[in-house]
Amino acid sequence: MRDLQAMQSCAGIVADDPARKVVIVSATAGTTDQLTELCEAHSLDRKEELLKQIEIRHLELAVQTGPENNAYPGIKEMLIELRSYVHGVNEVTAAERDYILSFGERLSSSLFANVLSKMVDGVVWLDVKDILLTDDFHGKAEPQLEEIANRALKKLKPLLENGLVVSQGFIGSTLDGKTTTLGRGGSDYSAALFAEALSADILEIWTDVAGIFSTDPGIVPDAHPIEELNFNEAAELAIYGAKVLHPATLKTAIRKNTRVFVGKSMDPQAGGTWISQKTGSAPNIRGISIRRNQKLITIHSLDMVHQFGFLARIFEVLARHKTSVDLVSTSEVNVSLTLDTGIQSNYSNRMLDNAIEELRTFSTVHIESDLSLVAVIGNKLNQTPGISGKIFNSLRDINIRMVCHGASPHNLCFLVNDRDGDRSIRLIHKQFLTQPKKEEVL
Ligand code: ASP
Ligand code: MG
Repeated sequence: MRDLQAMQSCAGIVADDPARKVVIVSATAGTTDQLTELCEAHSLDRKEELLKQIEIRHLELAVQTGPENNAYPGIKEMLIELRSYVHGVNEVTAAERDYILSFGERLSSSLFANVLSKMVDGVVWLDVKDILLTDDFHGKAEPQLEEIANRALKKLKPLLENGLVVSQGFIGSTLDGKTTTLGRGGSDYSAALFAEALSADILEIWTDVAGIFSTDPGIVPDAHPIEELNFNEAAELAIYGAKVLHPATLKTAIRKNTRVFVGKSMDPQAGGTWISQKTGSAPNIRGISIRRNQKLITIHSLDMVHQFGFLARIFEVLARHKTSVDLVSTSEVNVSLTLDTGIQSNYSNRMLDNAIEELRTFSTVHIESDLSLVAVIGNKLNQTPGISGKIFNSLRDINIRMVCHGASPHNLCFLVNDRDGDRSIRLIHKQFLTQPKKEEVL
């Protein structure tokens, strides 16, 4: 939802096919970042500056959508509410933060509903808090699937008989009506939850790239969009860094076997990636992703020797502090784990500190930072002779800090220093994924 043009392009996509029934909108570009900063800003001047930017952007959009649509009064009212709320809170709590962040999607969805009503009849703006019930873990709330399905049936389905619903991504609500959020980038997760609750056939994610690429084109300019992926490959790509999809989006689609399409909202004809259950039978490498800013925690204890229950004890501590672990590697007296500190909010970083403090009461904990997790994604990676040899041979002058291979047929992951991350990707892409140019073939 970058600007009016983006909104119009999205509205055109929706209007193009009457089978498109529910539209979940994310905030206008940059707004969630600004709202986040607003929660953290201490100086009144900075707060004022941020509020002004948010106000100007949305009021301009309200004017541009045309007076006949009458978006202006509603937008203005929301902005006044935001302003007085921000001035009314001091040290922003996690719950207040969620409420402030929710303005991004509330504003964009009402602007978009107006743009869309110009093109199709029967547009209904729905408050997502009526449907998307979550627990009260503010900042990364857990959707309550049964309750969502019930409400979708009772409150949403009837609206779809003659109408087309526009609602907000990213936002949820506790049972007692407090606003929550699903975590940054959560709008497509919301859309997936709606698709699941309605047993939709297809979930389309319209974003700023034409599908999921073989790797980040910022790192490898000749990276290409992947036409088809199976759920597992796409989930691995999403989890390990391709920022196109929220990692939980596919988990949700897999539960109901919903086909997912990822396309570019500003250029719907550009094609995109279809994601489904279908798995190709040939072993291959489909993509490479990277997650920077990783921490490697190594836990050492002599108590581990021939003991049972030690790993359980470590994971119990991490689970209690809601700290999520990505990779694990163990030796007789050491356990190394990576934690994704890149996307974790300040809130969960605090929990991580607490977890480490507790681990230190019964073991030595060593922390290394500035690492990148590189994930090679494909099919049958754990059954193809020579594949890891080829991968690591292309990286022969790079220090590999840790490797995880074998648990999944779809991924091989390793850790390198942040400064070696991009180069590792370029080397592997060149070896396995760069498609020969036509001239070279001739
Ligand atoms: N507006 C939210 C964010 O920027 C959710 C989203 O865009 O998916 O994180
Ligand atoms: Mg987004």
